[in-house]
Amino acid sequence: MRPGPVAAEHLGVVGTATLLPGYTDENWRIETAGGDVYVLKVSAESSTVPLQNAVLEAMAATPYRVPRVQATAVLDDGRTARLLTWVEGTAFADAGRPPSLVRAIGVAAGQIVNALAPIEGGVPDEARDWDLASAADTIRSRAPAITEERKRAIVYGVADLLDTIDFASLPQQVIHNDLNDDNVLLANGEVVGVIDVGDTLRTARIAEAAIAAAYAIQHQEDPLSLASDLIEGFSSVVEVTAAEAAVFWPLIMGRLATSVVKSAAGPRDNPHRLKSEAGGWDLLERLHAGNAAMMRAELSAAAGHPALQDERIPLIERRHTLDPSLSLSYAKPINVVRGSGTYLFDERGRRYLDCVNNVAHVGHSHPAVVAAALRQAAVLNTNTRYLHDEVLRYAERLTARLPDGLEVVFLVNSGSEANELAIRLIRAATGNHDLVCLDGGYHGNTTTLVAVSPYKYPPGAAPPPGIHVLPSPDPRRHAESATGLGEASQVAGLIAEAIQGSGGQIMPEPGFLADAYSGVRDHGGLVIADEVQTGFGRVGSAFWAFELQGVVPDVVTLGKPMGNGHPVGAVVTTREIAEALDVEYFNTFGGNPVSAAVANAVLEVIEDESLQANAAQVGSYLLAGLATLAATHPQIADVRGAGLFLGAELISAELANHVVEQAKERGVLLSADGVDGNVLKIKPPLVFSEDDADTVVATIEAALTDR
Ligand code: PMP
Repeated sequence: MRPGPVAAEHLGVVGTATLLPGYTDENWRIETAGGDVYVLKVSAESSTVPLQNAVLEAMAATPYRVPRVQATAVLDDGRTARLLTWVEGTAFADAGRPPSLVRAIGVAAGQIVNALAPIEGGVPDEARDWDLASAADTIRSRAPAITEERKRAIVYGVADLLDTIDFASLPQQVIHNDLNDDNVLLANGEVVGVIDVGDTLRTARIAEAAIAAAYAIQHQEDPLSLASDLIEGFSSVVEVTAAEAAVFWPLIMGRLATSVVKSAAGPRDNPHRLKSEAGGWDLLERLHAGNAAMMRAELSAAAGHPALQDERIPLIERRHTLDPSLSLSYAKPINVVRGSGTYLFDERGRRYLDCVNNVAHVGHSHPAVVAAALRQAAVLNTNTRYLHDEVLRYAERLTARLPDGLEVVFLVNSGSEANELAIRLIRAATGNHDLVCLDGGYHGNTTTLVAVSPYKYPPGAAPPPGIHVLPSPDPRRHAESATGLGEASQVAGLIAEAIQGSGGQIMPEPGFLADAYSGVRDHGGLVIADEVQTGFGRVGSAFWAFELQGVVPDVVTLGKPMGNGHPVGAVVTTREIAEALDVEYFNTFGGNPVSAAVANAVLEVIEDESLQANAAQVGSYLLAGLATLAATHPQIADVRGAGLFLGAELISAELANHVVEQAKERGVLLSADGVDGNVLKIKPPLVFSEDDADTVVATIEAALTDR
């Protein structure tokens, strides 16, 4: 039996019935042959119906459209069925969640509480699940259903936060209690309607605004600013007390936690619930990782009650305590507190699409990598003077990925350490001292590496003695090939990137590296391929960038992405070269079991998630998008790169910096680099999607236009 249609007949309406999504009540959309539309509501709990009717009646006096009761009947099973008018409008959740209307939702919440204030009663017989005043109990009783320990800890933390609220000090009244993103209706760019009074009850008045906020700020770039807009709108019609202002943020957290625990503890087969659960968790995690004191104070101020705050100013602290030559990104630096996948989040829960971090190769805080680090750290961490399976397993997997002959692995802690050791190796193997590098190259921060990093030379400076700089591989700068060692003797070898990173995503022409390698080998030197930026599948069509040039180096150096942020690097070379180093190479941390476990996990994720293939596919999609943009924007002089290692060269460094700053304001992190500082670099985590690529192109376009 389908109770909806039957009940509709009871109520004297005949039409087509469609079940609407919902939680406890059963709601049907009934459309008559004449085109009239109604909602048939079968309430799970009949005792609440009189209060609901009073609330609907009172809300009808607000400027918003609300359902009106047309007929009521009691069904055979004791439930009450009501026929309500259908309210036209598009739910906020279905209307693209326009941020510009969030303030208006606050105003609506305020007008609704004002309209409901005179209603008597509404005290539930027993604490109700959706009452924020008893949410701590709701959360604690259902939290065990959450399977992930980290997430359980978050909701228990929210329950503790709710315990600190003195509900008796807050103004109480009947509220709607569920102004969620499905229940607020929009039309013509305005909030026009409010539906579903099924959860109405008497509680803290400010909960009305907190509940509305908990949903309106989901799936938004900058939730805190929108929560400020909402409470500001609410306070424009309600005189919010200081005590209410102070608990607005904790109550938002309380509602989010209630929503996710109810979902976890409820049936797992309702797609509507699962969708809203994902949005709830996303926001809860963002706000949880943020700076609670700052968020509370900011929202209290937006409600008209600026709170005195003992404010830490990290920027000033940093200038005091950290080396000032360490540059900070962005005119207004970001205080990042969390990373997940391709996103970074700041202390306000604001989300940024990260196109800069080629270290977080498989995505920020990838759960498999985090788990590997935790698992191994809990058991053992020591050095390579003992046998350990993780290290051996890693060395085998890594060498299997490299050309034959590159079979001996040294594990280190950074790209610089890897290159430093690689240089010792080629000097030992050749007995020569001189080094060759490419103009625009960067290889690390030690004294020797700065000497082979022309990218870091002061303007106009000559290379230090014993260093030979070959022309830049940039075909736009130099037509010459990379020979020209002239009469150089004593050459230990060449160190070169196959695509220059710091130099500005410089793609050499085919054959460039082959010429450079053979020129150096003709002088008795060996060749180091610096894959610190480009390795591990980033360039898409190959696992290593040197493969794009069809060359085979004598030594390969690795770093950045190898540990997804954990400091691990490596040198891989031939047995003959390795044996040339006739003193022990000991490295305290290099190859420790935790680093090895992390590096193994990273390789596994690259394989399991087909990230090299993703880099190839999304990379060429993004490059095509950038090329299309360049065709209509002459400020873009060149677009280039391979896989997800891309660059867009602009006509000036000043413009590139402008775009970087503008893009950051729009929630996309880019960097400007290159020998002239005019190249926008795009080298995101390899879990980047085509949607992410669309966002980047649209953002660069907007930033170029907005001058
Ligand atoms: N080689 C290349 C190509 C690099 O880009 C870098 C770092 N930017 C390094 C080496 C040095 O690595 P690290 O900073 O880990 O010492």
